[in-house]
Amino acid sequence: MPEIKGKTWKDSLKTRKYEEHKHCIVCGRAVAQTQDFCSQECKDSYKKADKGKSKKNTISIVVMVVMVIAILIVPRLLGM
Ligand SMILES: [Zn+2]
Repeated sequence: MPEIKGKTWKDSLKTRKYEEHKHCIVCGRAVAQTQDFCSQECKDSYKKADKGKSKKNTISIVVMVVMVIAILIVPRLLGM
């Protein structure tokens, strides 16, 4: 029955249009506006990824600081 099917499709479009929603930042599925993730699984994987990222950032900051200190100190040690 195409008529009922069309009506359902239109209704779902209408609902979609007026329903405020966001998308899961991990997998992109639609979630409620108050949520960032569609499931605990996505929340966990995001947290894991975030942790890994911040760890990498910390390491690169430490490396940069060490390099700057070396650049500042090494010439003095060499009597320049
Ligand atoms: Zn998700």
